[in-house]
Amino acid sequence: MRIAMIGTGYVGLVSGACFADFGHRVCCIDKDEAKIDGLNAGKMPIWEPGLEALVKANAERGRLTFTKDLTEGVKDAEAVFIAVGTPARRGDGHADLTFVFEAVRELAKVIAPGAVVVTKSTVPVGTGDRIEEILREEGVTDVSVASNPEFLREGAAIADFKHPDRIVVGAEDQRAEHCLKEIYRPLFLNRAPILITSRRTAELTKYAANAFLAVKISFINEIADLCEAVDADVQDVARGIGLDNRIGPKFLHAGPGYGGSCFPKDTLALLKTADKVGVEQRIVSTTVEVNDARKANMVERVERAIGGSLKGKRVAVLGLAFKPNTDDMRDAPSIPLVNALLERGAEVSAFDPVAREQAEKIFEGIDFASNAEGAAEGADALVIVTEWDEFRALDLERLAASMRGTTLVDLRNVYDREEAEEAGLTYYGIGRGRQLDR
Ligand code: NAD
Repeated sequence: MRIAMIGTGYVGLVSGACFADFGHRVCCIDKDEAKIDGLNAGKMPIWEPGLEALVKANAERGRLTFTKDLTEGVKDAEAVFIAVGTPARRGDGHADLTFVFEAVRELAKVIAPGAVVVTKSTVPVGTGDRIEEILREEGVTDVSVASNPEFLREGAAIADFKHPDRIVVGAEDQRAEHCLKEIYRPLFLNRAPILITSRRTAELTKYAANAFLAVKISFINEIADLCEAVDADVQDVARGIGLDNRIGPKFLHAGPGYGGSCFPKDTLALLKTADKVGVEQRIVSTTVEVNDARKANMVERVERAIGGSLKGKRVAVLGLAFKPNTDDMRDAPSIPLVNALLERGAEVSAFDPVAREQAEKIFEGIDFASNAEGAAEGADALVIVTEWDEFRALDLERLAASMRGTTLVDLRNVYDREEAEEAGLTYYGIGRGRQLDR
């Protein structure tokens, strides 16, 4: 099929490349000229495992093209996906749909009759209805509007897209349903479950999924706090409950609070939707509060671990991206932590395997090291913020020998206390028994 993908970010580029790999002809469109020029020259705008090879292979086969010109990309397309950003609106937390509606008005000028417009962006309930209205206002009538929320995870995006747990399609007519089934046919052959439902239900399903995962993370984080007070180990609690099929082991890793480009903004947007219709969502609302407080509070842990004021102390931060295998810094827990360390007078040396370029746009006044050893040199404390694989096999003895202090604050529970202590470090994990005065 001929597909246009408006927005060539994490979701648009990965989806576009995977659809092309299924055998469709995909044109990825973006108004960011540098991004498109880069892609046409073979340069990836994001760091995502396996992406470069997939993009190059499909571009060479002529199935995947990139353009700044929306008309060129949309005019012959049978399906036009919208994968532009829907960030939280500054000030009130509503999903900002400016980019979505702009894209709809632009595509309306050139879309072919009989085509299907599909929102892949995460959009609040009712956005599909509004898109239909805009299309009508622009004189477009013979076009269907469907919802197909995306559930890929950055860092494992291609595998997720090609082997999804499920595909959710919200369609109001046969044409939209048939079109999306045709696009995803290669995945049905692999028996990926597909849920066909109403457009509004599909839109809400995406928010409900992210909100539930945010709840799960915040739940185990609070249990971790309790573990510290009563001398229990959250790793074992998580395993003990996660082995129960009704609970499941995933998203039960205690840590510094969730971040990233989705959970923070999507939980807020869900609350705004609920507000608008006068329905309380106390669990999600509390989750947002718990998580915000947790991220803001991580600096206290470092301060207490170091045993007093942070003024003049050198803190090595390992990992800046919001999770491993991505360079995405959006709402990363490292941001409030590093900023608070600086505010309290600490010097910060940081290392992230791939996020340095993004992080340099965010932080001022920190030293960027080119490896973990460089960051740790002369530091009073080492803080693991992102659990990159390469931080799982650090030579702790060597690091300890090059540090000024002995503190290891492991916000991802990568190491065991004994291991760290054998290397001469004083270990502080998350939820692993009584360790700091509360
Ligand atoms: P992104 O910011 O990486 O990419 C969005 C792209 O859209 C940008 O390159 C921007 O230049 C482009 N754009 C904006 N307006 C445009 C227009 N009118 N015409 C052409 N291009 C335009 O965003 P993302 O992370 O890919 O997220 C996109 C959507 O997918 C969001 O709604 C997000 O919530 C959702 N989502 C994201 C993820 C994720 O892991 N990143 C996962 C699932 C769903």
